[in-house]
Amino acid sequence: MVSAYDERPWLASYGDELPRELVPEHDTMLAMFAATRARYPDRTATTYFDGRLTYRELDELSDGLAAHLAEGGLAPGDRLAIYLQNVPQFVIAALAGWKAGAIVVPLNPMYRSHELTGILGDARPTAVVSSEHGWHEVLGELARDAGVRIAITTSELDLQTRGDERVLGRIRRRPAGDAADLLAVARKGGRPPEVEVRADDIALLAYTSGTSGVPKGATNTHGNITFNCAGFRARATRDAPGFFALAPLFHMTGMVCQLGAAIALGGRLDLAYRFEPGVVLDALAEHRPDYLIGPSTAYMALMNHPDVTRDHFASLDHVFSGGAPLPSAVVERFRERFGHYIHNGYGLTETTATATSVPVHLEAPVHEETGTLSVGLPTFNTVLRIVDDDGADLPVGEVGEIVVEGPMVVPAYWNKPAETSAGIRDGRLHTGDVGFMDERGWFYVVDRKKDMINASGFKVWPREVEDVLYGHPAVREVAVVGVADEYRGETVKAYVSLRAGQRATAEELVEHCRRQLAAYKYPRIVEILDELPKTATGKILRRELREGKTG
Ligand code: AMP
Repeated sequence: MVSAYDERPWLASYGDELPRELVPEHDTMLAMFAATRARYPDRTATTYFDGRLTYRELDELSDGLAAHLAEGGLAPGDRLAIYLQNVPQFVIAALAGWKAGAIVVPLNPMYRSHELTGILGDARPTAVVSSEHGWHEVLGELARDAGVRIAITTSELDLQTRGDERVLGRIRRRPAGDAADLLAVARKGGRPPEVEVRADDIALLAYTSGTSGVPKGATNTHGNITFNCAGFRARATRDAPGFFALAPLFHMTGMVCQLGAAIALGGRLDLAYRFEPGVVLDALAEHRPDYLIGPSTAYMALMNHPDVTRDHFASLDHVFSGGAPLPSAVVERFRERFGHYIHNGYGLTETTATATSVPVHLEAPVHEETGTLSVGLPTFNTVLRIVDDDGADLPVGEVGEIVVEGPMVVPAYWNKPAETSAGIRDGRLHTGDVGFMDERGWFYVVDRKKDMINASGFKVWPREVEDVLYGHPAVREVAVVGVADEYRGETVKAYVSLRAGQRATAEELVEHCRRQLAAYKYPRIVEILDELPKTATGKILRRELREGKTG
């Protein structure tokens, strides 16, 4: 029997295979970079405040670092961990690692000893590249204990002259100690080792965000990444665009949709250390990028900044959001104020960023009954299915687990055969997200499977309640969670932060929901906080809220 997914209704609007001329002829990150470097050696590859590097400079610096790493004993297949914010040295280090045939392990620079010990113990890196202060404060000792043999540090104050006091003001230079200085060794130059890197070699070992239990390393291959980058070539509307890095490079969205896409298109990547709304607005005004890609929470923060004007976004051709739920009220508010439609997209670390997106010439439908904005249509060569608990395809409109199959799905989790066989079977990734497909083939994410609230047997998806709260004019951010309740088992609680200058009481917000939602769904408790706790990638930490951690 052919199911609704095998018929793939979305093909009518998006097409199927990646156009033949765009099938990645360069199926490793190295080959892709080499092709761009050969064509555009003097184009700006990356900016950092008032500093910039061309493709030729990036190539030379990463050659020097690769030579140093190989001489120090980094061999093909070894791991190189990178513990940096969005600075050009991140790009130099990643390229150098690939040139040495190594697997790059991005480490979230917010992680401290607990998270780092787990990841270092699992990934067992041979070499690390770290910020100076990160090395001195946390990583140095842990790395030595984990058997790291090559240590390189760098200061975020290098490679720019002016910088921005708001983000760089507190950083101090630290003596290198036992670590080598990245720019010093990179500038010495040298030839990278002769290594053969293939499409199915692992390029990244990416530990998933950790909003959900123990981190697992997704093994993103060179082929996984270059395929998604080729998708950007297919969607591109101009040559050499500028990408502003709204998302962090240590996260898959930053690595693939910003860095990878910029290299694939011979474009420019604007870096600004870390997400800080006022700094981002100034950088947008200065560099005038064409693409903005980041989590929905970043757009909300920019939109609510007191200095924001329409001109900050005037240079943009395309605005994409992914990695977190995007309420349709935010899309509408952004369009009204700044004249840009935010294109939603859905994916996971395990799908090497994008699995669905809203084609640039279309707008995503909003589901009539639930008010949920669609996450788009499956991208090239990709099939999404909605399945029941036994893995059988469900009919159109029914809610079940989202399963993704396509050239961007990672082959396995690192060192975790049990998790691999539970989550990735026959090339199909069981995402743990719950959603449905409409009759035209648009997909909707209802929620995370485990975030469902069970109130006296009634299933409540936090997302739906959040969408209603986002419709209230005073609301800036919302997270809805289930909390223990004597009578109902669980009951619905909303944590809310308010927009600057706006007022609303908890009672008023409860009433706003009660008018719009079934009796079992509206939040019985609303708590107003100044800020909701979030991961560095902008995902709201529901687990902490469920556990009552709000500070
Ligand atoms: P990560 O591996 O950190 O990128 O997190 C992936 C998770 O983010 C997915 O499993 C979804 O739960 C969530 N997510 C990503 N994109 C979207 C989206 N457009 N709408 C709703 N949830 C999303």
